[in-house]
Amino acid sequence: MSSHLVILSMLFGAAAGAFLPRIAYRLTVPFGRPARSSCHRCDRQFPSGTGGWIHAGPACCGHGHRPVIVSALLGGVLAVLLGPVPQLPVHLLAAVPGVLLAMIDLGCLRLPDRLVGMLAVVAGLPLALLRPDRIGPALAAGLLIGAAYLAIALLPGRGLGLGDVKLGATLAFLLGFAGWPAVAVGFGTAHLLNGAIATWLLVTRRTRPVPFGPALLLGSCAGLLTAA
Ligand SMILES: [Zn+2]
Repeated sequence: MSSHLVILSMLFGAAAGAFLPRIAYRLTVPFGRPARSSCHRCDRQFPSGTGGWIHAGPACCGHGHRPVIVSALLGGVLAVLLGPVPQLPVHLLAAVPGVLLAMIDLGCLRLPDRLVGMLAVVAGLPLALLRPDRIGPALAAGLLIGAAYLAIALLPGRGLGLGDVKLGATLAFLLGFAGWPAVAVGFGTAHLLNGAIATWLLVTRRTRPVPFGPALLLGSCAGLLTAA
């Protein structure tokens, strides 16, 4: 594994991360509401069409450095642990909608369908082309987790939303290409992380809903890396 590969992966992460604040800001709205069309601090209207979405730097007012740092670090970690394999660019690309989903879920407890779909296509199609022999197990993992999470979501008061079900099924499908141990570690880690956060909130007597998306996404990274 060369340092060039790590630097290139970090640069890709940083460059992609620079474009995330505007998209995340516009999509961080309560369920059923349209995307934000203006900045709530200075009232400036965002340009209509794609020009209002594709924008490097802060969303409008404020800072935009956090997604750049997170995406760059994620790119570096993926490059170090996966090494020069054909799957590396796929996972670097998948990390872009992944970080975006985590940002939006942290902001408003929502995982937009279109972004989850984008993650499934951006990563699922090339993985299926690279490992056609793993399509069966990947689909089985996606169906298994999707069905289990749907059953949990339908139980009253379990705090699992349909967005979590769809993201869980998508991530299980993608991890399925890396093997069943990756699926087990990915989802085990996600539930451990979520449990730790819930316990911490309970101990500190804070009552607020915990988004599950970031734990699912981080857990999937752990699953992926154990399979590397
Ligand atoms: Zn503004």
